[in-house]
Amino acid sequence: MSRHAGSARPAAGITASSALLFALLASLPIGSYGAGEPVPTEHRRLEAATKARLAAAAGRVDAQKTAGQDLYDVLHYDLDLTLAPASHLLTGQVATTARIVDAPLSALDLDLKSTMAVTAATCGGAPAAWTRSGDVLTVTLDRAYVPGETVVVSVAYHGDPAGDYFGWSSVGGQPMIWTLSEPFGSRDWWPCKDLNTDKADSVDVRVTVPDGLIAASNGLLASEVDNGATRTFLWRTRYPIVPYLVSLAIHPYTRFSHWYAPLAGGDPMEVQYFVYPSHYEAVQTNYAKTVPMITAFAQAFGEYPFVREKYGHAEFVWGGGMEHQTLTSLGGYGEDLISHELAHQWWGDMITCADFHHIWLNEGFATWCEAYWKERTAGVATYRAYMNAAAYLGPGTIYVEDTSDFWGIFDGNLSYNKGSWVVHMLRGVLGDADFFAGLTAYRDRYAYGSATTEQFRDVMEEVSGRDLDAFFQQWIYGDYHPVYFYDWETTAHDAGLELNLAVTQAQVGAGPFAMPLPVRVTTVAGVVDTVVWNDVARQSYRIAVPGAVTAVALDPDGWILCEKAAVPLMGTAAPDAPPAAPPRLACAPNPFNPETEVAIVTSAAGRVDLAVHDVAGRLIASLCAGDLPAGEHRFRWRGRDDAGRAVASGTYYLRLRTPAGSALRPVALVR
Ligand SMILES: [Zn+2]
Repeated sequence: MSRHAGSARPAAGITASSALLFALLASLPIGSYGAGEPVPTEHRRLEAATKARLAAAAGRVDAQKTAGQDLYDVLHYDLDLTLAPASHLLTGQVATTARIVDAPLSALDLDLKSTMAVTAATCGGAPAAWTRSGDVLTVTLDRAYVPGETVVVSVAYHGDPAGDYFGWSSVGGQPMIWTLSEPFGSRDWWPCKDLNTDKADSVDVRVTVPDGLIAASNGLLASEVDNGATRTFLWRTRYPIVPYLVSLAIHPYTRFSHWYAPLAGGDPMEVQYFVYPSHYEAVQTNYAKTVPMITAFAQAFGEYPFVREKYGHAEFVWGGGMEHQTLTSLGGYGEDLISHELAHQWWGDMITCADFHHIWLNEGFATWCEAYWKERTAGVATYRAYMNAAAYLGPGTIYVEDTSDFWGIFDGNLSYNKGSWVVHMLRGVLGDADFFAGLTAYRDRYAYGSATTEQFRDVMEEVSGRDLDAFFQQWIYGDYHPVYFYDWETTAHDAGLELNLAVTQAQVGAGPFAMPLPVRVTTVAGVVDTVVWNDVARQSYRIAVPGAVTAVALDPDGWILCEKAAVPLMGTAAPDAPPAAPPRLACAPNPFNPETEVAIVTSAAGRVDLAVHDVAGRLIASLCAGDLPAGEHRFRWRGRDDAGRAVASGTYYLRLRTPAGSALRPVALVR
């Protein structure tokens, strides 16, 4: 559990150069959280680590969907479970009501872990045969069912499901029975169609436990029956729910409630808490923020999605939390943890990632919502500081290429932090009106279902009227982030003063990013805020200004996951200069160690300055400063400054200036 999210990706997946770049970039502050405050990521690290650890331990390759599972749609699950903590025995009967959607179906494939023993199966109430293959249970139907027909298959089974997704733990000397089924663990303790793309319309969970224990689950408590030595709880949800969000949390809890007033009026909704008796006092302060959070998120994203039932917290033994639908399991009670898991009720539960390649639609959104809650309660400066604290400037794609790489699915840096930046950047690109309207439209289209990145993108495009293909391509499927170097000068024209702004994208490991780039020009006559479109490695802009310029800032409000530095880029080729064949500049190898060869090609004889600068713009070494004939010339840089001292690993840039123009090229030194 102490594994750090930053080291979660296998080291073999990080190349020397990207690791170097990460180290370098991580040293460049792009923002800071409030002085003295802890970096607010511990709960996210814990959640990611918990989910990844469980999944990795399970060692499953994927959801292992069978062809037959495409042929039916689950309408309802009825779980009837009896738990004996003393003997670690779960005895269950689960009935699945399914509608056939394609092709005549004569057998129903369910997912159930092979270690759970099946004792009987029925189809429409009559005994049915079954076969097992690995974790797939196939129940033979009494006849072929055609599309549109409904069938009920019931399975009786028992076993000890203890392991990665179900635990017989204890807290304070008392049983603490928990489940955490994400991503593929529901099958460990109940037979189901364990896919995100088929939500049951409703689920009943009837669970019998020894007297004295309280069993909490999804939806509303329909009944609680004292059987003497045991007690039976019946929980019912009538909202669509994906199997991995069905949960149990069982302990001699202390129960208490708050009440949420729906935005449109009507009956208040119960917010139910199941806490360890010893935590009752400790949770009060932060739990009291839950109802105001529901209100804030409902105002922003539409009404709480399960308002006819409940929201709640049930404490469990894992760090972080798990956003079980209508009843989050919590391993702490920090405010950011509470806001994160609550936000999942909209983003993750109401709309679920269609598969775990797109987990950022769950985790990136929930992480962004932590910051949004800060904005609602403490203002936009706190929101920005919180986002800056979540900035991840290393390698890897948000899209999870390999869903058997569970550390990849629940990578705190990518799925959580960089994912939250994609939401934040989209807000910056679209503006609040289109951004929130887009979220509303996304909800309207996919509520109580599932979605992919492309489906989300298409909705945001429709609402905003913008082409967001490049945005999602570079941020979800691409590595890294832009590194902007910029320089400026002013020129006077008859019409007035003009700012000439040069911007170079100097990142290593990724091509040019296409982004609208906010520019703030401070002049003696006031501030000019504008946005330029930036999409190639080297670009210049002219901006009319009302007076002498005193400062220029790129992305001053921090809407782009980037690094930026003002460096001298303006060569002798000013924007007004006549076109001339620009010099060419290349180096190899890059990254390099111990030396790299730099090749230049000039189109005319004349003065050539070739120098190495660091990312702060400081001159490190001069490779050429004098007249050269036209043609190709080669130089070596051995990673030393002009005094002969070895310089540190990191990114540097080669700057070439000639009468015909200038060129800039990043180069990485790997020690
Ligand atoms: Zn989460």
